Amino acid sequence: MKPISVLLVLCAAVIPQSVAAEDRLNVVTTIETLADLARRVGGEKVSVEPLSHGYQDPHYVEAKPSLTIGLHRADVVIRVGLDLEIGWLPILVQESRNGRIQPGQPGDIDTSTFIEVLDIPTTQVTRAMGDIHPKGNPHFWIPPVNAVRIAKGIADRFKQLRPGDRDYFEAQFAKFLSDIKAKAPQWEAQAKPLAGMKIVTYHKSWTYVSRWLKLEEVSYVEIKPGIPPSPDHLLRLVALMKAEKVSALLMEDYYNKGIAQEVASQTGAKLVPMPSDVGARPEIKTYFDLVDAMLRNLDSVPR
Ligand SMILES: [Zn+2]
Repeated sequence: MKPISVLLVLCAAVIPQSVAAEDRLNVVTTIETLADLARRVGGEKVSVEPLSHGYQDPHYVEAKPSLTIGLHRADVVIRVGLDLEIGWLPILVQESRNGRIQPGQPGDIDTSTFIEVLDIPTTQVTRAMGDIHPKGNPHFWIPPVNAVRIAKGIADRFKQLRPGDRDYFEAQFAKFLSDIKAKAPQWEAQAKPLAGMKIVTYHKSWTYVSRWLKLEEVSYVEIKPGIPPSPDHLLRLVALMKAEKVSALLMEDYYNKGIAQEVASQTGAKLVPMPSDVGARPEIKTYFDLVDAMLRNLDSVPR
């Protein structure tokens, strides 16, 4: 036995926790909500780290070389898909030199394959045209129906990767499902008065939530997803919002607040700051916190 192996055996003998840690699936997620769902499903059998934070625009995360360190040892990468992370994840995965997580490998989980994708373009759209949703709308993780589908998809892949822990992952998913069912009556009661509310959103990132809550999306501040508004577009938007009596302008914190405030003040719509990911605010630590905070902010809109 080589000296290094002896050392490892000795360490393993005296630090049992570290052995358990080595047994865990190393999971890296692109956004914090996926990290929370992975932890719920994986429990003590996984160790999970997100690459970005909920206060960042997930389309534009800086591909810092330090992010490849976690990817190098990852067993699994869980991503949103639909090109949301195309500007930063592929280069990091490539540079990680980790065969387990390359596209199409069992360690690559594209969660968009678990849900019904909305806003799929009917004509050919490329990123060269500026639209950053060329394969459909990637902002799908908030409605409970999708969170459950994502959690189920993650659980199934964990079971495939660790067949010995199938029952464990199954039980963890069942626990998540029962937590969602316990919360559903409260969320449904909060959602009911929101139905029919006319909204404008800064980025086209609330489509799935609007469908869940029956909000009526009148228009968007961005001309197309990723294309900032021109003065002409803003003039038309203000006129439309006045004519349609739009109640609220929804915006994540990382967009241009000056423009949104100007539009809101000219139209009488309420500017509603909307968290779209776990970690958007320090107090939003879980998926449940995220949905609670989002519904609370929508409930604050006068109608
Ligand atoms: Zn987007």
